[in-house]
Amino acid sequence: MNPLTKWQGIVGEQNILTSSEHLERYTANVTGIERSIQAVLLPESTEQVQKIVAIANENKTPLYPISSGKNWGLGDRLPVQSGATIVDLKRMNKIHRVDPHHGYAVIEPGVTQKQLYEYLREHNLPFIINITGAGSDTTFVGNAMDRGIGYYGSRVDSMSGLEVVLGNGEVLRTGFGHYLNSKTTYLYPHGVGPSLEGLFFQSNFGIVTKVGMELIPHKDSHAYLSCSLKNPNNLEAFVDILTDLRQRNIVRTTFHISNDHRSEINACPLLYNYFLKEGDDKETSKRKAVELFNSIKSCWSASCGLLGTKSYIKDAYEHTKQALKGIGSVKLWTFSSLKKQQKIAQRLSFLPSYRLKKALLATLEPPLGHSRGIPSNDALNSIFWPLNKIPQDLIEPAQQNCGKLYVLPLVPMSGEAFGEVVQITTNILHDKFGFTPYITMNMAKDKVFESVINIAFHRDDPHQVQKAHNAITEVNRQFVTSGYIPYRVGIQAMSEIISSQDYHWQIVAQLKDILDPNKIISPGRYNLV
Ligand SMILES: Cc1cc2nc3c(=O)[nH]c(=O)nc-3n(C[C@H](O)[C@H](O)[C@H](O)COP(=O)(O)OP(=O)(O)OC[C@H]3O[C@@H](n4cnc5c(N)ncnc54)[C@H](O)[C@@H]3O)c2cc1C
Repeated sequence: MNPLTKWQGIVGEQNILTSSEHLERYTANVTGIERSIQAVLLPESTEQVQKIVAIANENKTPLYPISSGKNWGLGDRLPVQSGATIVDLKRMNKIHRVDPHHGYAVIEPGVTQKQLYEYLREHNLPFIINITGAGSDTTFVGNAMDRGIGYYGSRVDSMSGLEVVLGNGEVLRTGFGHYLNSKTTYLYPHGVGPSLEGLFFQSNFGIVTKVGMELIPHKDSHAYLSCSLKNPNNLEAFVDILTDLRQRNIVRTTFHISNDHRSEINACPLLYNYFLKEGDDKETSKRKAVELFNSIKSCWSASCGLLGTKSYIKDAYEHTKQALKGIGSVKLWTFSSLKKQQKIAQRLSFLPSYRLKKALLATLEPPLGHSRGIPSNDALNSIFWPLNKIPQDLIEPAQQNCGKLYVLPLVPMSGEAFGEVVQITTNILHDKFGFTPYITMNMAKDKVFESVINIAFHRDDPHQVQKAHNAITEVNRQFVTSGYIPYRVGIQAMSEIISSQDYHWQIVAQLKDILDPNKIISPGRYNLV
């Protein structure tokens, strides 16, 4: 019997998609990459996933699991190799429980940022979530499977007790999860003996169907710190100062450092929407947004959320201000200080300068919200803005022919390394290929920056698509040559980091033989096979 007929018997007719219309929707993407897929399966339980994998093994046909498939700019929903059947886990979206004492949630892969945020609010649970800027409907598990990084740092570090359907069809529970009465499955990731959970992030050994995820306890106070650099010549000093503040624990959270281009594509759509709401037409709104942004922009800016006691926040602010004296300015915002300023601006809005101030204050709401674990779709407009295609209502990014590709080198936390990465980026992406580089570097841990560098291009112009791919390939190679190895790559760039000559990757391929001998799960994803 054909595997599609067998899978249909498992998930039901309505949960297997094979029409060309559906397949086109699943293969639409912002990267300009083409891959074909066989079908899409929408299971609702671990048991169904197990049966799907068993049938795939019988038929030696590959599967590609996604949690919501919004891996924009890195492959979206596409498999690394053509020919796979997508296993979309969006229906597996149960929040099994939130432990209010120890502060973790046990969730399935389809649970979205919005869903968990609303759950915590509804149940009055005193936690915030480490959200990403990727939008309300993206998932924790899918993001972690690519070792994604949230506003407050690595998602992977917060996960434990993975339930995985291996490529061989068996279910593995990592950490202490395989002991029947374990009380610590979601409190300590390693278990006893070799720690296996690390095998399932950025790999192709299994389908993760459940995880435990730590939540961030609500602290007494919350604030948002924003710093602006005055002169680009002081960039390295600026970075060294912020590094020092973090490494001495004066600021305990993650600084996000962005160039002006990146700030522009985040802020301008917010200003544009603000002016539209105020009644301006599209052209006027766009012009006013750009003019206002240009009047306040700084070459580089940094921001972070502060969580703690009132005195910790005050100290962190004062120290940062003191440390950046002469080279940058620092502002501290809370929701209440923002509201107060907005009221004043509203009262004085008969004056043109206060009308502009009101617009600028509106742009602070989303970042303040992110720093407090409130997900939003605002950052998604950064995909559309550079190509002048801002939609009226938010739509799937792939629908507007907007192109986006990312390169994500990991960088030691120092001004010198930061400067070198910016230089390589500018030389290749801008000077050689003519793209505007949008750069953010996030303090992923105490010692490294995760760089998020992207370019935008018109996906309906094959020449531009090719040029964008050439540019990203070249900059990726230069980063590898210079020792700034990407911590994560798009599906088109696996071969840039994987080599059959490298013993590390040979061992990874041998693990595949044990855990997925028929090479069913995501062939070629972070693996030679
Ligand atoms: C404007 C913008 C902002 C962004 N901000 C961020 C950010 O702040 N941080 C960040 O890290 N990324 C960010 N991204 C990148 C990306 O969009 C996010 O990482 C997003 O969360 C990934 O989508 P997803 O959750 O649907 O994961 P998916 O696309 O479902 O998963 C990603 C990959 O993981 C694997 N996978 C997924 N689920 C499973 C599973 N259950 N078992 C085994 N393998 C699985 C698959 O190979 C899949 O392709 C951003 C992108 C854009 C365009």
